[in-house]
Amino acid sequence: MTNNANSLFLKVSNKIIENKKYLTKLDSAIGDGDHGINMAKGFKVINDKLSNNNFDNMSLLFKEMAMAMISNIGGASGPLFGTAFLSISKVIPENKIEIDDLVKMGDEAISGIKIRGKAEAGEKTMLDTIIPAVESLKKSKNNNDDLETSLDKCLKAAEKGMKSTIEMKATKGRASYLGERSIGHQDPGATSSFLIIETLIKEYKNE
Ligand code: ADP
Ligand code: MG
Repeated sequence: MTNNANSLFLKVSNKIIENKKYLTKLDSAIGDGDHGINMAKGFKVINDKLSNNNFDNMSLLFKEMAMAMISNIGGASGPLFGTAFLSISKVIPENKIEIDDLVKMGDEAISGIKIRGKAEAGEKTMLDTIIPAVESLKKSKNNNDDLETSLDKCLKAAEKGMKSTIEMKATKGRASYLGERSIGHQDPGATSSFLIIETLIKEYKNE
């Protein structure tokens, strides 16, 4: 399991590094233009760690990634993504991951981000991608959707959530300084969250 997770997160780190300019451009519109730089810096450290180590267990792998995020991404987003990964490390199973586990991991990540950042849904942040993605997994669980269908629906919900930030007014983080002028721009952290979720789902399905 850890080998698969290692290779999935190598793909994730490459995706974030490839999107450095795009994320920075989004942050230039409503923030200080460093989101891509911050994320690429942190994910370069993660890429190096994953290329040079074989982590014994999933929990340790997520803890290592969380530490790399907290120490290297910086900005508001580093500690928030770090907290999310640290929260996931506490509940991630070591063997097969089922929809139930994904829901539990998603819920933990959301509560970690909420406690740390004091934001709720609809404030134009990373939560507006992550919450709909986890809500979709919950619906799938209740519908008894198979894993593939659940992941397809989750990806669509995450994308819709990311796009929903365009029309939102930011009330947390740097973008909130712009007030009404933040409307009309897609949130950078919601976008990087989508890229992480998209890469995990697409690459998982390819393997
Ligand atoms: P900074 O705003 O310090 O420059 P970044 O540019 O790296 O940090 O990250 C900005 C992103 O962080 C935003 O697009 C938003 O998604 C996310 N963010 C900011 N504040 C919060 C918060 N309180 N809760 C959740 N996400 C937040
Ligand atoms: Mg910024």
